[in-house]
Amino acid sequence: MPELPDVEMFKRYLDATSLHQRISGVDVESAYVLKGVSARELAHRLKGRCFECSRRHGKHLFVRANGELWLRLHFGMTGSLQYFKREQQPSKHTRVLFVFARTHCLAFEDQRKFGEVGLVKDVDDFLKKRALGPDALDLRLSEFRAIFEKHRGAVKAILLNQKFIAGIGNIYADEILFRARMHPATETSRLGDKAITKLFRATHHILEKAITAKADVNQMPRSWLLPHRGKGGKCPRCGRNLRSARIGGRTAWFCAHCQTKL
Ligand SMILES: [Zn+2]
Repeated sequence: MPELPDVEMFKRYLDATSLHQRISGVDVESAYVLKGVSARELAHRLKGRCFECSRRHGKHLFVRANGELWLRLHFGMTGSLQYFKREQQPSKHTRVLFVFARTHCLAFEDQRKFGEVGLVKDVDDFLKKRALGPDALDLRLSEFRAIFEKHRGAVKAILLNQKFIAGIGNIYADEILFRARMHPATETSRLGDKAITKLFRATHHILEKAITAKADVNQMPRSWLLPHRGKGGKCPRCGRNLRSARIGGRTAWFCAHCQTKL
């Protein structure tokens, strides 16, 4: 499921391939992913414009078309982008195809169709309406601390809540907690200043390193949880079996020996 580092990769990919080309058409293969806009309106409003720049916030990607119009992409569970020559056959999971006047097109692919494609006039307004929290990489320590002091619950549930912090999903929340050596079910009320600072540093470290590794598990350090996550996986730190538990509505993987409950 695409999280902040994955969406950052999509942003870079789109920036490197799809900007400053006139859009000659938009083909909607599945209107199911469209949110608040019809296939006809999407095509009508984008046709003749160019994508100028993009902006990521949490797991959202916004792409500015000329003027006051932004394409909104959310990648759901299985969304991704693919840029290819127009004569090539799009994948069967293509939901929306942006066709450029020159030679290529950009496909929004999404096998499971939990993704979202829409148009927004003002990105900040949209973020406010959705009540999305600040992007995880934009957060300062003081803001981060305030979130964990104000909200009660399991630390992992707070990390996952997009209304508090935008961009962290199940995989990276587990990775951050593994690095901070904190049990995912630790109650936020138990966290002192030192623990929150540690968690904040781990959050930045993991998200930044994941981006450096191009959000590709094969390029991530073997000392991370991710390459070992799952049934039969062993903790890369102590060699004991990893454990799983349902926390905050998601399956957490962790090492019960290395990650202590405060
Ligand atoms: Zn361990």
